Amino acid sequence: MAKTSRTAIQPTREQDYPEWYQQVVRAADLAETSDVRGCMVIKPWGFSLWENMRDALDGMFKATGHVNAYFPLFIPLSYLEKEAEHVEGFAKECAVVTHHRLEAGPDGGLVPAGPLEEPLVVRPTSETIIGASYARWVQSYRDLPILINQWANVVRWEMRTRLFLRTTEFLWQEGHTAHETREEAWEETLRILEVYRAFAEDYMAMPVLTGEKTAGERFPGAAHTFCIEGMMQDRKALQAGTSHFLGQNFAKASGIQFQSRSGEREFAWTTSWGVSTRLVGGLIMTHADDNGMVIPPRLAPRHVAILPIYRDETERAEVMTYCTALADELRARTFDGAPVRVELDNRDMNAGDRGWDWIKKGIPVRVEVGPRDIARQAVFVGRRDREPRDRYGQERAAFVSGVGDLLDEIQAGLLDKARRFRDEQTREIDDGEAFRAFFTPRNPEKPEIHGGFARSHWCGGDACENRINDELSVTIRCVPSDREASGPGACIVCGAKSPGRVVFAKAY
Ligand SMILES: [Zn+2]
Repeated sequence: MAKTSRTAIQPTREQDYPEWYQQVVRAADLAETSDVRGCMVIKPWGFSLWENMRDALDGMFKATGHVNAYFPLFIPLSYLEKEAEHVEGFAKECAVVTHHRLEAGPDGGLVPAGPLEEPLVVRPTSETIIGASYARWVQSYRDLPILINQWANVVRWEMRTRLFLRTTEFLWQEGHTAHETREEAWEETLRILEVYRAFAEDYMAMPVLTGEKTAGERFPGAAHTFCIEGMMQDRKALQAGTSHFLGQNFAKASGIQFQSRSGEREFAWTTSWGVSTRLVGGLIMTHADDNGMVIPPRLAPRHVAILPIYRDETERAEVMTYCTALADELRARTFDGAPVRVELDNRDMNAGDRGWDWIKKGIPVRVEVGPRDIARQAVFVGRRDREPRDRYGQERAAFVSGVGDLLDEIQAGLLDKARRFRDEQTREIDDGEAFRAFFTPRNPEKPEIHGGFARSHWCGGDACENRINDELSVTIRCVPSDREASGPGACIVCGAKSPGRVVFAKAY
């Protein structure tokens, strides 16, 4: 009989989804809360996962002509004030630096001293400070476009936080581009949306919808905000990335002006776009199960864990020799254009515990090797996309030569499974009562279990959008780019004419 702690995350998804999420983060050793409220410690396994996301995205940004740079952590308050909607959108969550040193206070402790002439805001996002640089760099149309990304941390003071999904400080990338024409900036906005979609599906195995946000859900100061939205296993939507067409709003606020081809002074057209460590939360909620984390091979810090099994020193020597050679053979194989990443886990622990540790961490493939496997020149294989007990023996040479295909198969299977789940939980709903029922918890004790995505008609009015939000806590996640392909209909709230369906859901 296996111990309970070795069979599952407690509670299960069905029992308590939010608590299950926290327990997966802990069991997989991805991150932990810190002494600073709302800020997390990302542990090595979680950070390695983030590094793999970062490297893949960085390659995609560079392949589309972008370069990296770095801008200051602090933004003068006056910069933030330049764009009215922008400052209003972020004012409630700014950390502000008002002093620059500490002095001994009257009670012996240290107190802030040296007040700053102008307070500095810890960046919640960097449009304004990057805009100030661009205003200096851009003189002529020849200086455009500017296609820059930065990898950085930002701070948004959050009252209610959850590891990865919503933390006060988080890691992200923010792209900021400036263009000569509206068309170029528009193309850039959509190009990045496509990069995000491809990354989510090809690397994270997380199917996403793409489309535009309604005015009410737009980035503060943007003219248009586009997004990718995934469905989590509790059927809620997760906004996983946004790409903003800023029009000339920020160029005017920051004074990004250039001499055009016809000699006129014109304002540049700008974009900004970002994804963050929130993606790790999205990955967990898309793939993890009641046994812990499940990491798609393309993002996994390690692909294969080799678990040597022996009873005594004689067996140990034989098994370790075999396993070391097996590890080298696997590392000589490639997956996704790079050597297969192998961990030979010889920790002084019970073999079953070691196996469960890797299951909880979400490693795609486990390989157990004991004296009997060696006698047959075989390995005993466990796949993370199958039940822990569902393991099989395989000839060593066949396993080694097929490891790349196996990882490809697991990667593709995870995407298929997630897509099937999302499609099964998505409905076209045209009736107001059915819409309400869809979003009303079936079991009052589990308010998180509800319908999923509703593709319904909307007239375009704020009043209808707000009413659904107020009454059902449901928002319009996106207006699909091909909205009109779904044909016209009547608004789910007021019955007025709608040019096509939009996607409604509860969201993180
Ligand atoms: Zn309406």
